[in-house]
Parts: sequence; C-alpha cells; structure tokens
Amino acid sequence: MIRVRIAPSPTGNLHIGTARTAVFNWLFARHHGGQFILRVEDTDTERSRPEYTQNILDGLNWLGMHWDEGPIFQSDRLDIYKQRVQDLLDKGLAYRCYTTEAELEEMRAAQKARNEAPRYDNRHRNLTPEQEAAFTAEGRRPVIRFKIDDDREIVWNDLVRGEMRWRGTDLGGDMVIARRSEDGNIGQPLYNFAVVVDDMDMNITHVIRGEDHIANTAKQILLYEAFNASVPEFAHTPLILNMTGQKLSKRDGVTSISDFKKMGFVAEAIVNYMTLLGWSPPDSTQEIFTLEEAAKLFSFDRVNKAGAKFDWAKLDWINSQYLHSMPVDKLTDLLIPYWQEARYEFDPVGDRAWLEKITALVGASLTRLPDAVDMCRLFFVKSVEFSAEATEQLKQAGADNVVQGIITALDGRAELSADSTQEIIKQVMKEQNVKKGLVMRSLRAALTGDLHGPDLVESWLILHQKDLDKQRLQEAIAK
Ligand code: GLU
Repeated sequence: MIRVRIAPSPTGNLHIGTARTAVFNWLFARHHGGQFILRVEDTDTERSRPEYTQNILDGLNWLGMHWDEGPIFQSDRLDIYKQRVQDLLDKGLAYRCYTTEAELEEMRAAQKARNEAPRYDNRHRNLTPEQEAAFTAEGRRPVIRFKIDDDREIVWNDLVRGEMRWRGTDLGGDMVIARRSEDGNIGQPLYNFAVVVDDMDMNITHVIRGEDHIANTAKQILLYEAFNASVPEFAHTPLILNMTGQKLSKRDGVTSISDFKKMGFVAEAIVNYMTLLGWSPPDSTQEIFTLEEAAKLFSFDRVNKAGAKFDWAKLDWINSQYLHSMPVDKLTDLLIPYWQEARYEFDPVGDRAWLEKITALVGASLTRLPDAVDMCRLFFVKSVEFSAEATEQLKQAGADNVVQGIITALDGRAELSADSTQEIIKQVMKEQNVKKGLVMRSLRAALTGDLHGPDLVESWLILHQKDLDKQRLQEAIAK
C-alpha cells in the first residue's frame, strides 16, 4: 500500500509551495489507490501558531486535498522521539556533546579563517564517563549528536532527479538530533530526527517534498539505517519561481492560498494550475482537468527537474475557464459575498432568481470573482454615473427623443420580454425615422451610464425587473 504525507509546519499560512507539494502527494496517492496523510510539524514552539494550523487545514480542505489520516501533531509525540533518541544513544550511534555555543562560535570562526566550510569537528564523539561527569559538574548541558561518518557516500534514486549522491563530509559533521535541556536530559528533538521517526511509524512509502529538502534527505537516510528501517522512495519536486527566475517569496506579493482565495481565484482553478507547476500530462496540450483526471494521468516521469515559473496570466486564464463553465447557481453563491461586500442592496434569498440572471449575463466575462463588482454595479445602484462617452452620446441629435420614445412605449407594459424590447426598439426607429445604432447607443447610455457592457437587451430586462429602467431613462433626460 502506497502511503504518502504532507507535513506542513504551522509557522505561516498555507504557502503555495506547500500546497503544490500536497497536490503532487495527493495525485500520486490517488493514482495508486494509496493513502494521503496529514502531519503537522509543530515542534518549533516559538514560531508555530494555532491560527496557522487552522489556515493550513482550511486551505487544504478548500483545495480538495482531503486526507485519509491525521492530522497527526508532532507536539503530541515528543516522548516517542525522546525514546528513539535514547535508543540511538544505547546503540552507541549517538552521543552527548557538551560543546558550548561559545566554543562552537570559536570553531566556526577558525574554519572561516582557513576558508573551510563550517562543520562540527566531532570533538566530543568519544568522551569518557569521567569527562562527561566533569562537563556536567561545570554546569554544561549536552545536545545529542548522531554520528555521521565522513567516508560514507549516500546514494538514492530520486523519482524526479534520478541518481543522487552525497558525501558524508558534506553533511556538516555529526548532526544534532536533540537540543539541550535545562535538566540535562534529552531535550527537544530536531526536525530531521522527528521526520524520520514519524515517517517510519506512519509507514510512509514515498517522501514527496520540495527540492530544498535534498540535503535533509541525505541525513535522514543515515537515520533510517541507524534504526534498521527500510528507506522510503524520495521525490524532490522543483521549486516554484517567479517570472524572473527567483524562488517565489513574500516579496512577490501573494504566496498563501488564503490570499489567492481572497483575490477571487476558485479552488478548482488553483489546483488545476498547481498540477501544471512542474508536471505536464501526456497530452501536453491539455491544460484544463479535474483532480480526478490528473490523478489518473499522474506520474513522476513527467515532473520536471527545472524550477516552475509562476505565471499569473496562465492562472488567470485557467480561472476564467472555470468561471465561464461554472453552473449559474454555484457561481451565484460565489458572487453574492462580493456583492455584499460592495454594499449592494439585495436580498440573497428573495432576489435569488434575479441574481442568477445577472450571473448568467456576466459569468462568461469574468476572470476573477471580484470583476463582478464593477461589472454588475449598474444593476444594484439606484442611479448610475454617466461616463464622458455616454454623456456625449446623449447629446447627439435625436437621442433625447429616442429615450423619451422608449419611456412612452414602456408605459402600460408591466411585463417585458426579449421580444417586446425588440418591438419597442423597432417602434421607436419607425416613429422617429432614426437608425438602429442611435436607438441602441442612446438606450445603453441612458440605462447603464456607459457605452460598453454586458448584452443590452438582457441588461434592460434585469433592470426592468427592479423597475429601474424607466427611472434611469427619465434621469438621463433630466440630466
Ligand atoms: N515541515 C517541512 C516543511 O514544511 C516538510 C518536511 C517534509 O516534507 O519532510 O517544509
């Protein structure tokens, strides 16, 4: 059984990079009928916050990244990690290191002066019990270090990057797996250690994560070996880059999924776009697909090694595709909050049918949901502002009469249909002997305050249902 996990750290809102990693894990799990597990890596107590955890869970759910197990919190497992640290101490694979911060500083400064990479020089690897007792008597508190042999070579076959090789010498010396603790016992376990214990306990078969974790993988493989555990497969996914090729960061503005949501992208579009950030389907012209469709096609053979450029124009295009094909009732549900936020007056329940008409009219013109605020203003406000063009149009010879003619024709018609609007337009053309263009442009200017906008007849019908059409026409004449 294939088992994968997403392991976010709640030190910030759900980041696009983490979300994309979640998507790849999810697709891989679904492709193989496996399990997708959520683990919250909250051992960094200073930077972890419950509201970030909530944001991450909400974001994953919103995207449809439903998990089969979890959330499992690392903070609930501290005793387990400490026990495993003890196991490595017992096996002689780890040791207590009493080097002080000041000594470490001094060591690094000397290495720098010699133009060497900073590393721990393993100086406390073989302390005698007497030396340990002496350090303890001095009041020193130990970290726990895991032994890394310099002459080791670590090799794995990465599902994205192929064969990967790391030398033990490049791992910075014996690694700290548990912090100091005031009472001299085993302190807080460190990231690389907790991850391995969790991935072993959760029977994770494939570790799929961003390529910024490659150096961790080399260390983690040594830990699996120390525990005589089987080593999972690894897949390191490419970074997400901005358009200039730099790693996407806070400086690029929006990076968290909740921000994308606020900007009016829909979950289906974001997820669809994220699948394309580093992966392409066998038919590379296919750009729109559901999660289920992508899961059927997903494999690591088609994941790129090169970083994936984040392309706003592409995301906008994908979002527009989803908005254009979305059922009217669903799109109306999504638009109502934006109209409410704009303080448009309407009754979401009583006006439902009318609102759906507006949605049906503008849906195919939307790129992001908030576009519907400006586009639909004309249906919600009592009076419209006239653009310069519209004012110009209404000053044209004959425009006044046209508008007045329509008002007269409207009198006595409670109901208005697409057919009857055509009748009215023809009637005014005939009575006043004017061209259709003049009637249509003057009508649009008077009704909407503009010369551009959604379909005129549909807009008129929508305004008529709220008795706004005659009033607008009269106002246009008065102005
Ligand atoms: N907690 C790590 C992160 O947020 C992920 C660790 C992992 O996937 O192994 O980057």
